[in-house]
Amino acid sequence: MDHGYLVEFPAGRSFTGEATAELWPHGSPAVLAELVGAAVAAGAEHAGPGEFTYRALRNGRLDLARAEAVRDLVDARTRYQARVAFSQAEGSVSRRLAPLRDALEEWIARGEAAVEFVDEAETHLPRGDLLGPIERLRDDCRTLLKGYESGRVVRDGATMAMVGLPNVGKSSLFNRLLEKERAIVTEMPGTTRDTLEELISVEGIPLRLIDTAGLREGTDPIESEGVRRAELAREEADLVLMILDGSRPLEPLEQAALEREFKETARGRTVVALNKCDLPRVAGSSPEGLPVLEISARTGAGIGALRKELRRRLKGGGILEDPIITDGRHAKALEDAVAALERALRVAGDGMTEEVLLEEMREARRHLGSITGEFGTEELYDRIFSTFCIGK
Ligand code: GDP
Repeated sequence: MDHGYLVEFPAGRSFTGEATAELWPHGSPAVLAELVGAAVAAGAEHAGPGEFTYRALRNGRLDLARAEAVRDLVDARTRYQARVAFSQAEGSVSRRLAPLRDALEEWIARGEAAVEFVDEAETHLPRGDLLGPIERLRDDCRTLLKGYESGRVVRDGATMAMVGLPNVGKSSLFNRLLEKERAIVTEMPGTTRDTLEELISVEGIPLRLIDTAGLREGTDPIESEGVRRAELAREEADLVLMILDGSRPLEPLEQAALEREFKETARGRTVVALNKCDLPRVAGSSPEGLPVLEISARTGAGIGALRKELRRRLKGGGILEDPIITDGRHAKALEDAVAALERALRVAGDGMTEEVLLEEMREARRHLGSITGEFGTEELYDRIFSTFCIGK
C-alpha cells in the first residue's frame, strides 16, 4: 500500500529511553488505519494521552516540570509561548529550583543533626543561624511567584475589554488591531451578540480582545443586558482599553467611567486611547492629568505605540526576563512552600522545639519537590498526563 521509513532507536538513545521503532508512512488516513490495525493485530497497544512523555518521566529522562512543558510546547500558539515552553522543557524550572532545594536539604540535615544530638549543648544551632536561610528561601520563592503573574499571561493569555461610548471607534480599532494578526485569529467560543471576542498576539502574548457593547445607560431590557455583559467583561479583564473620541469634548459618562476605573484599580490596567487623531483635536476631549495615547483607527497612526504599551502592561512594566513559572500547579506549590516557611519562622520566633520547626521545613521541601515530581503519586500523574494529546 505504501513505502515508508522504519527508524530504530536503541535502548537509551530514544526520547523515552526505551528501545523504540518508528514507522513513517505517508500521511494517508487509509494507510495509517491499515498500519495501526496491523500493528495492533501483532500485539501493539494504542498510546494513551502523553504516553511518550510519561514513559520518559518514568524512565528518569525528564522530571515532571519538564514533562509538563512538553505539553505546553505542543499547545503553544505563538512563537513567544513556544520559546518559554521550550526553555522549560529544557529544564529552566528545575534548574531555577535546584539551589532552593539544596539550601532546604542542607538546612534540614543540619536541623536533624541538632535534634539528634540534643544533649550535647555545642551542637545546638544558634537561632540566628537558623532563621537567616529560612528567610532567604521564603524570599526566593516569593520572587518566583511574582514572576508567575506575567508567566500566567504568557501561558494562558490575557483579556482586554475595549470600552467607550458608541461611535468613538471601538469596532474600527478592534479591526485595526486584528488586521496584522489574521493568521492566529480564532473564533472564540461563547461569542455573544453583545461582546465580540477575538484573539490577537501582542509580541507573542495571546490577548483576547473583547469589544463590549459600550458604555451607555441602558433603559430597554435588551440594551441593559448588553450593558451588564460589558460591565462584567470590564470587571474581569486583565486590561481595559478606554477609547475616547478626540474630535469632540469628553462626555460626563466617559468622565465618570475614567474616574471609576482609575480609582478602583491600583494595578494600572487601564490604557486610554484618544482616537480619531487624524481629525482636528477639540479642547477638553481628553482627561486632565492622565496619560493618553493618540491614535487613529482610520489611518493606523499610533497603533504601533499602542501595541508597545499593551505589551509593556502585559509583561508587568520594566524589561522582564522570560518568566520561569507559568504553570498554576507550580505556583500553588510555591505558595504552599512559602506558607510552610512562614510557619517555620513563626514557630522559631515562638521558641518552639526544633522538631516542630523541622516538620514545617520538611513540609516546605515536599511542596517544592512536588513541582519536579519528586513525590509524585499515580493520581497526580494521571491528572497531569490526561491533559496531553494522545501519544505525545
Ligand atoms: P463604535 O461604535 O465605537 O464601535 O465606533 P465605530 O468603529 O463603528 O466608528 C464610528 C464612526 O467613527 C465610523 O463612522 C468610523 O468610520 C469613524 N471612525 C472610527 N475611527 C476613526 C478614526 O480614527 N478617524 C476618523 N476620522 N473616523 C473614525
